[in-house]
Amino acid sequence: MTSAEEWNAAFKVRPIHEYLDNSAERFGDRPAADFMGKVWTYREMGDLVDRTAAGLQAMGVGLGVNVGLCLPNTPFYTIFYFAILKIGGTVANFNPLYVEREIAFQARDADVRIMVTMDLKVIYDKVENVRKERVLDKIIVCPMTVCLPTIKKTLFSLFKRKELAAIPQDEAHVRFEDLQTKGSKPKPVEIDPEETIAVLQYTGGTTGVPKGAMLTHKNLCANIEQMRDIFEKAQPGEEKMLCVLPFFHVFAMTVGQNLSVILGAEMVLQPRFELKMLLESIVRKKVTLFPGVPTIYTAINNSHETKKYDLSSINLCISGGAPLPVEVKENFEKLTGCILVEGYGLTESSPVAAVNPLDENRRAGSIGRPVPGTKVRFVDIEDRRTEVAQGEKGELLIHGQQVMKGYWKRDDATAETITEDGYLHTGDVGYQDEDGFIYLVDRIKDLILCSGYNVYPRVIEEAIYQNDAVDETIVIAIPDEYRGQSPKAFVKLKDGHSLTAGDLKAFLKDHLSAIELPREIEFRDELPKTMVGKLSKKELVEEEAAKRAAA
Ligand code: AMP
Repeated sequence: MTSAEEWNAAFKVRPIHEYLDNSAERFGDRPAADFMGKVWTYREMGDLVDRTAAGLQAMGVGLGVNVGLCLPNTPFYTIFYFAILKIGGTVANFNPLYVEREIAFQARDADVRIMVTMDLKVIYDKVENVRKERVLDKIIVCPMTVCLPTIKKTLFSLFKRKELAAIPQDEAHVRFEDLQTKGSKPKPVEIDPEETIAVLQYTGGTTGVPKGAMLTHKNLCANIEQMRDIFEKAQPGEEKMLCVLPFFHVFAMTVGQNLSVILGAEMVLQPRFELKMLLESIVRKKVTLFPGVPTIYTAINNSHETKKYDLSSINLCISGGAPLPVEVKENFEKLTGCILVEGYGLTESSPVAAVNPLDENRRAGSIGRPVPGTKVRFVDIEDRRTEVAQGEKGELLIHGQQVMKGYWKRDDATAETITEDGYLHTGDVGYQDEDGFIYLVDRIKDLILCSGYNVYPRVIEEAIYQNDAVDETIVIAIPDEYRGQSPKAFVKLKDGHSLTAGDLKAFLKDHLSAIELPREIEFRDELPKTMVGKLSKKELVEEEAAKRAAA
C-alpha cells in the first residue's frame, strides 16, 4: 500500500475545470448527464461551459468574485460550476430549499452579489425577494423547460406553466440564453490551484454557527484523485452514476458530480428524492454507481414498491454523511446484489476522509481506512490535544491535501479547527483498530453524560435497528435529575408493524447495558431530516428543551 507521503509526493495538482475539458475531449460523444430522459454529451457540456464562462467573464466574473448557485440537480448546476471555476471565480453553494432569511444571510456573509437560479417560482421568488432587499445585484435565470425532453416540455407548458416565474426584462435579470454567444470561449485565466478558492461551502461545523469552508482547487482536486484511486475498477466512459443527493452538498458535489466527470460517467440527475422516480431511473438507465445517505438505502429496503424493479445493474454504492446501520447495509446488498460500502467525510475535508475497501475486505460498522494521502490522529476529548493510545477512543483529527484552507472571514474559528501542524478537528469520536479501520462512536456534541459515563447514542441506535419493526430511530440526551443526562429514543416503525415502548425496552435489555437503556421511548410517524436526508437531531433536541422549559 502506498504511504500518505508517497501519495502526496506523486499527486499532481490542477485546476478543477481541466477535468471537464479533458472529458469533453476524451469522451466527447458519450453522455454526460441525463435529466428526465434528455441527454447532454460531454462535448455539449464542454461547449456550454465555455460559452457560459465567456458570458460570465463579460459580466465581470473572475478571480476573487463569488457567485451563488441556488439550483437543484440539473445540467445547469454542472455548467455554471465549471464555467465559474474556469474563469477563476468561486462557487458559493446555496440550498434551494432555504427560506429567504437564510439565502440573504449566506449571500451577505459570502459577499455574493450574483446568484444563478431557475425560473421555478418556488425557488426564483425567494431569490428575487432577496435581490429586492438589495442583497444581490443580478440574478441569472435558467429556464426549467430547456432541461426537459420534448414531450415533457409540452406537458409542462400545458399543465405546469403557472409554476414558472415571469422574469423582468431589465439589467438585474440575465437569462441563461442571453449569457451565451455561440462558439465563444473565455479568455484564459491564470489560476493558482493551491490558493484560489474554488468553492465556499457553508456548514455548521462542529460549533453549529454557519460558516463558509474555503475549498481550494487543490483541496477538491486532491479529493477527486483520492476517490479515483478508490474507484480504480470503474470503467472510464461506461459508468452511470445516480445523482440523487443534491450537488449543493459537498458529498454529492465531489462524489456525484466531480467523480462522474473524471470517470466520463453519465450523471443520472434526480432533482429531488422521490422513491418511484428514483427506482424507475435506476432501471431506465441501468445505473451502476449510486452514492447515497443511509436514509435513502433504508427507504429502498423498506418499501413495497422496490420488489417491482430490477436493481441488479447497480455494482457499487457508497454511503456517507451519517452512520450506516449494519442491518441497512446487509439488507440492501441482499436486495440488489451490489457492494455497499461506508465512507466518511465532512465539508471541511472536501469531503471524503475515509472509505472502506470496495471488495470483500470491507467491514460493516467501520467507516473504513483513511483515503490515500491522508493521515489520522485520535486525541483526548477533554483537552483535545493529547494523543490517546492506539485503539483507544478519542476525537478524530485528519491531515491531507483535501483539508480546507480555512473558514471564510473567521480566522478564530479556523485556528480552533486546524492545528498548527495542519490536522483538522472533526468533532467526531472514534478509534482505529490495528488494521487501520476506523470506527466512529459519535459526535462530541451528541455524547450523553450519564452518571459520569459517556454514553454513545449511536450504540443505542444500532441496537434499536436490530428490532425488525423499526424503520428509523434517533437517540438524544434528556436531563435526568439523578444521572445528569439520560438517553431518549424517538422511533419510527415500518409500515404495518406495531411495537410498544415496553416491548422495545425488553428487547433492548439483551443488547445494551443498564445505563444505555433509553429512559424514554417515543414513537413518531416521521423523524426530522436535513435537506440531504440525514436524520437530524437538532429539531428533537430543541423540541425537548422547549417542552421541559414549559413544564
Ligand atoms: P457535513 O459537514 O454536513 O457533511 O457533516 C459532516 C459530519 O457528518 C461528520 O462530522 C460526521 O459527524 C457525520 N458523518 C459523515 N459520515 C459519517 C459516517 N459514515 N458515520 C457517521 N457519521 C458520519
